[in-house]
Amino acid sequence: MPIAHEGYRPNLWERLAKAPHPSLSFQASLWHAMAPAAPPMSSLSGDIETDVAVVGGGYLGFSTALHLAEAGVETVLLEADEPGFGASGRNTGFVVPNLITGLDPAVMRQNLGATHGQLICETVGSGAELVFNIIRDHKIDCQARQNGWIQPIHTPEKQPWLADRVAQWQALGRPVEALSRDQAVAETGSEVYHGAFFDPTGGHLNPLAYCRGLAAAAIKTGAKVFCRSRARTISRRGDRWQINCDGGTLIAKRLLLTTNTTGDKLEAKAEGTQIPITLFQVATPPLDPELRKTILPNDRASADIRKELVAFRWTVDNRLVTGGLLASPFGATARGASYHLQRLQQMLPQLPAVTAEYIWQGRLGAATDFMPRLMQFGDNGWSAIACNGRGMAMTTALGRRLAGWLAGTANMPLPVPVTKADPVAVPSLASLAFSVWLPWNRRIDRAELKRAKKSG
Ligand SMILES: Cc1cc2nc3c(=O)[nH]c(=O)nc-3n(C[C@H](O)[C@H](O)[C@H](O)COP(=O)(O)OP(=O)(O)OC[C@H]3O[C@@H](n4cnc5c(N)ncnc54)[C@H](O)[C@@H]3O)c2cc1C
Repeated sequence: MPIAHEGYRPNLWERLAKAPHPSLSFQASLWHAMAPAAPPMSSLSGDIETDVAVVGGGYLGFSTALHLAEAGVETVLLEADEPGFGASGRNTGFVVPNLITGLDPAVMRQNLGATHGQLICETVGSGAELVFNIIRDHKIDCQARQNGWIQPIHTPEKQPWLADRVAQWQALGRPVEALSRDQAVAETGSEVYHGAFFDPTGGHLNPLAYCRGLAAAAIKTGAKVFCRSRARTISRRGDRWQINCDGGTLIAKRLLLTTNTTGDKLEAKAEGTQIPITLFQVATPPLDPELRKTILPNDRASADIRKELVAFRWTVDNRLVTGGLLASPFGATARGASYHLQRLQQMLPQLPAVTAEYIWQGRLGAATDFMPRLMQFGDNGWSAIACNGRGMAMTTALGRRLAGWLAGTANMPLPVPVTKADPVAVPSLASLAFSVWLPWNRRIDRAELKRAKKSG
């Protein structure tokens, strides 16, 4: 029986639809069923002091804590629930060495300037290698497969874009390539594709197991981690930060918030830069192992470039995992499962009709420009947010950079500028825009596919 957690407040839209509380689906996920247990952790009690306080136990928080501890910096991490309770324990498990489609090196340089643009591409580009190295170094048992990441294109019109994208990343020394139509069809098992972007350094894993493993590595390296320790308020006490939890108080010289988008508004302006978006995830029952010869036969992670993208991957026990947005949360759980499985079946006719065995949901935070941010909100107080739907490699790599910066390690420049928060006017209304936009995006996708079919 799932336990209701306090975190993850449903938004207005979800309340109106009486949609299932997103908190409940943490324990409903396939990843929860398959992940090794989290390391033992207690809650904060009494008053303690530290150099750096990190609030939020997802990839970003734990990667920062791990690398701070490695640099010998005294660090305490507070997590409201348990490691991976946020997006980090519920995502699709793709390790993607890129930002979202459209944010390629030229755009990043335009958005952030030459230095930061270059640095952020290097940071995310090598992010998958970092994730798999951490997994090897710390012997994290998370069903990791570094078999590469494919991003197929669904129309021949996108081929010039694909060539340009490959050239931009190759110019940075990344080992990416463009797959031909035949290669894309063979790699995915779907005839709808006309080519693909391929990065061999990407892959997939059990995201909750990876997050728990990062937590264990951080603790073993010397960070103190307290779970079920929700930061209720933050305030200044002299030249320190005071973080109040129900059971105790943490006093820190420096404070880093990595809380993503749960609605606690510890620093309302910083959190307000993020638009919360709920995504559904679906896992099939274990399928006939013979199917693996015709669908993603090389066990890669695949997410195409449609506006309503189709993402799919295998698990170690022969399930397919997919998911995405829904236009409205009314009756969402049942509808989400059948809708996303049907989409997969439409492009993979060899896949028999199946019903979902696991359905869960997660919430990501997206900035209006989908760029990571490091925002300062006082002396030695920052909020870092790098979710934006492509976060596993990005948050792990940004955490390492942030730790280097906080530790004062030379040759670890920050890949994002330190800015002030630039909150969206009404984030909960902005999150509706994604749902409202979805039918329009579907029309564009359908028109593009139709044109592609006509042109053969
Ligand atoms: C359904 C879904 C699918 C996705 N698929 C992919 C994918 O395949 N590949 C990919 O790279 N990215 C994916 N993403 C994005 C990725 O999951 C995120 O970018 C990443 O997990 C963000 O990590 P984080 O540490 O910033 O935030 P989170 O993992 O959300 O962590 C924030 C933590 O802060 C804690 N917290 C909040 N408030 C407080 C408080 N007051 N006190 C203490 N703790 C607090 C929360 O409990 C939570 O554990 C997906 C996201 C979703 C939702």
